[in-house]
Amino acid sequence: MTVSSAVDLLIVGGGINGAGIARDAAGRGLSVLLVERGDLAGATSSASSKLIHGGLRYLEFGEFRLVRESLLEREVLLRMAPHLIHPAAFVLPHDRSLRPRWMLRLGLLLYDHLGRLVIANARDAVRRGTRIRRGTELVSARRDGALWRAELRAADGSRAQVAARALVNAGGPWAMEIARRAGVEHGKAALRLVKGSHIVVPRLYAGAQAYMLQNDGGRIVFVLPFEQDFTLIGTTEAPFDGDLADVACTDEEAAYLCRAVGRWFAQPLPPSAIVWRFAGVRPLYEDHARSASAVTRDYVLLRDGEPSQAPMLSVLGGKITTYRRLAEHALERLDLSGTGAAWSAGSPLPGAALAGGSTETAAAALCSDYPWLDPVSADRLIRRYGSEAAAMLGDARRAEDLGEAFGAGLTAREVDWLRREEWAESADDILWRRTKLGLRLGANERARLGKYLAPCVQAMKS
Ligand SMILES: Cc1cc2nc3c(=O)[nH]c(=O)nc-3n(C[C@H](O)[C@H](O)[C@H](O)COP(=O)(O)OP(=O)(O)OC[C@H]3O[C@@H](n4cnc5c(N)ncnc54)[C@H](O)[C@@H]3O)c2cc1C
Repeated sequence: MTVSSAVDLLIVGGGINGAGIARDAAGRGLSVLLVERGDLAGATSSASSKLIHGGLRYLEFGEFRLVRESLLEREVLLRMAPHLIHPAAFVLPHDRSLRPRWMLRLGLLLYDHLGRLVIANARDAVRRGTRIRRGTELVSARRDGALWRAELRAADGSRAQVAARALVNAGGPWAMEIARRAGVEHGKAALRLVKGSHIVVPRLYAGAQAYMLQNDGGRIVFVLPFEQDFTLIGTTEAPFDGDLADVACTDEEAAYLCRAVGRWFAQPLPPSAIVWRFAGVRPLYEDHARSASAVTRDYVLLRDGEPSQAPMLSVLGGKITTYRRLAEHALERLDLSGTGAAWSAGSPLPGAALAGGSTETAAAALCSDYPWLDPVSADRLIRRYGSEAAAMLGDARRAEDLGEAFGAGLTAREVDWLRREEWAESADDILWRRTKLGLRLGANERARLGKYLAPCVQAMKS
């Protein structure tokens, strides 16, 4: 890997915040290199509940700035990515011993499916000139006057030096470690790591509504429609001080979520019904609140460096909901010469230009352009690729033209698109992070996909 000339911004971390900052910066005319040591959205950004919301608990804890910004952003994001983000009706069973009704109404949410938001931001950033290196880690960085000199290590072990006018630390739960690698301390600032787990079970109820269940101790458990045939339940909240490379939903957490649902739904939910579980670690800004629930969900941007020195900006905390505003604030704080004006609020993400203006009309149009495509697949492709579904299907005149079929509508053509356009390399990248087809493919089908991808994975390693 060679990156020869100095860039304006070196961004470390390819989660929603790194991708959002890269897109915004590139659109303002800055040259940007983003490095992500694993897969894009491979960490916290894939483990979220995918709710775009103002937040009930933020109101309770008086986080009015965050609530206001989140509520405004809901509308902006809906316009930017109508294929990825969908409003949903929430049912909030009420019990007099729990929160008052007015608070529930104020905290009312939109439910959204955000599987591709990070990738969509990354793709748009690339269209605007950003270079993205997946599988590339920041090993160390040192200041050299007005430049940062960073050492990067690629997945094959090769190393490269890169110079940058500013360093952006968007490492999520690893943000303090990245700061250390750059020799930056940020005073007393710290992260509070709070683990959250989700479970997925076969669809529990008819209808498109979501539920917001209040449980003992004030915790809220969301029950959300998921991928047509499933229900997503989460989350737990527990302090985390383990190995960040090894975060999983435990049996106890899964049992807690099953009990929470069993309490409100007519039938008990046995843990044996769980078809998938996942967990992530919230990188919250440490404000020394007593409980995990009370820690601020707002973000803090820490700038390090004298005016004559190359700055480093670390992102601590935040929500997916506020990523776009966070990116705007990050560029304001960096205040690099040559930075253009804010622009991203009105600018749609790739795939947003839906035929007829809705996912339903766009799916119908796709079916009429590709008459052999079944409506279920058309709906899935529109919700996944938006107006780019046709570019993915390309010149196919019949189903066979899409190449090997792996099951559940996944074909070689889609897999090739995900590799070419969306940085996918492994079966997990495709089945769990870019799509959720892992829920539908059996072991043999997954093995066939693995075999199809093997030459590519081998080539990456060699
Ligand atoms: C259980 C749970 C539920 C949540 N629910 C919601 C919700 O409903 N709504 C909402 O708005 N938010 C939610 N969140 C919060 C949201 O997911 C996070 O705030 C957001 O994803 C953080 O994104 P990030 O880009 O900062 O971090 P991450 O997504 O963690 O990205 C950081 C990246 O940095 C990379 N990295 C680390 N070190 C290096 C290095 N040295 N070199 C290169 N790369 C490196 C990592 O591999 C990682 O991919 C939830 C979080 C959790 C855990």
